[in-house]
Amino acid sequence: MTDLTIRPFFWRPTNLFPETRLVSRTHDGTVDTSYGEFGERVRSLLAALADRGFGPGDRIGTFGWNHHRHLETYYAAPLSGAQLHTINVQLGDEDIVYIVEDADDDVLFVDPGDPFETIERLWSELSVEQVVVMDETVPETDVDAVAYEDLIAEHEPIAESEMPELEEEYPAGMCYTSGTTGRPKGVEYTQKMIYAHAMMVMTPAGLGIEEGDVVMPVVPMFHVNSWEFPYAATMAGATQVYPGPSPSAADLLELIEREGVTMTAGVPTVWINLLEHVDEHGGDLSSLERIVVGGSAAPEEMMRRYDEEFDVTVEHAWGMTETMSIGSVSRPKSSMADWDPSRKYEKRRKQGLLSPGLEMRVVNDAGEDVPWDGESAGELLVRGPTVITEYYNRPQANEEDFEGDWLKTGDIVSVDEDGYIEVVDRAKDVIKSGGEWISSIALENALMANPDVVEAAVVGVPHEKWQERPLATVVAAEDADPDEEELQNHLRETLEQPDWWLPDEIRVLERIPKTATGKFDKQGLREKLDVDTAE
Ligand code: ADP
Repeated sequence: MTDLTIRPFFWRPTNLFPETRLVSRTHDGTVDTSYGEFGERVRSLLAALADRGFGPGDRIGTFGWNHHRHLETYYAAPLSGAQLHTINVQLGDEDIVYIVEDADDDVLFVDPGDPFETIERLWSELSVEQVVVMDETVPETDVDAVAYEDLIAEHEPIAESEMPELEEEYPAGMCYTSGTTGRPKGVEYTQKMIYAHAMMVMTPAGLGIEEGDVVMPVVPMFHVNSWEFPYAATMAGATQVYPGPSPSAADLLELIEREGVTMTAGVPTVWINLLEHVDEHGGDLSSLERIVVGGSAAPEEMMRRYDEEFDVTVEHAWGMTETMSIGSVSRPKSSMADWDPSRKYEKRRKQGLLSPGLEMRVVNDAGEDVPWDGESAGELLVRGPTVITEYYNRPQANEEDFEGDWLKTGDIVSVDEDGYIEVVDRAKDVIKSGGEWISSIALENALMANPDVVEAAVVGVPHEKWQERPLATVVAAEDADPDEEELQNHLRETLEQPDWWLPDEIRVLERIPKTATGKFDKQGLREKLDVDTAE
């Protein structure tokens, strides 16, 4: 028996589906390759890494978007025995320096353009040995940098039989949490964890990725292994479309139309923007069968629109950096097949059923399990071979965030009689009003169901009597001018909650700040609102 490593994930597509296409949008056009070419190039890169002495014990950082060179590095780094550390290109300078230094990265693979300029600007603060620019050439620079394509061209692919032997306990991946709750925390994935999670994601009870799919992972490769698509979809032998740097809704639509994408995945704001774009400019989504949405709660209205107007099924998924992304997916059970669509939506809008391979508990403040009645809420604890049991280098967080094998997710959830998880809120976002809880997520979804609103974010603001009260912010839809009273009435009619849930105020903003992973940045929003209030 061999260890559980990613080697077979490389072997399978390169030997069984060498002709299958890998399409990649890059800063200078679309590149069309195949799993056959991918195999050769990864083995050249392996030769280049070996030549420079990189292997077990080393950390290879990447700082780039979704494209074929990044995919090749996703394989070459862990196949060499080293650890792939993906760094979010949208972070601020301070976090980037903190993360690269905390992880002690030896080499950085960096996208040309803005990402490279960022690293160049921060170079004197980094103790990295070398930069590989994921491009054909290197710009004029003082940074010790080589071009990715030169590395490939200068090294003959090593034979499959000469690829390094790997062990399942090797650290193979690393990603930092986005830091919405303080300093980013390092999360490490071993070869075995990636094996287990990619298998989970590939199965029908995970995301069900098939060889015949044309998969477009929009969730960035710098964020939680792009929800494992680079490993799971590659192993499945699916055709893959990588959407390149900072893709706009128009870029995504073009790729969907041109490549006949059948399945894609990303945070809700991406799909809300795509709908807006198609509303305004038209577009053909007929090839698309499924969109996996997660990272923050998917508004039901958006799910319904894709379903009813475009025949696209939106599958709502939940996960964390600490659970290697996907940890639950919402699909009606087979016993619900005859239910009418509205009743099915009661399940589909939830975060769903825990993924195979995991176990969960939901506990109250006293640590007691709460009943699965769809009402009682508590903190979600999860454990399994794809869930971390410690952070890298963070003894204090390790004390606070784990209970033995169990990860304390910080998510307040309820679970219904059928086992469907519903995230009520993050513990730090839930609004505590007069000793009761108000779910910011429920208010946001209700507001986003109003046609005059495209985005909504709700935060709790301190209140003398009630402790906290909800303050809602919305971004108006194109050509709409939402009126506060109308929105309050809309909430009163649709929310199915007592009136004290209604926000004390609803403000229309030009834009709602987002985190580096495209979620509403509640901390940033609070700061922005304070500024507004002070004015
Ligand atoms: P960060 O914790 O820094 O935001 P993560 O990407 O790891 O970075 O975020 C994980 C969190 O995102 C979860 O704990 C949960 O609060 C939230 N989340 C993820 N998916 C969903 C979802 N489908 N619905 C609601 N919240 C979600």
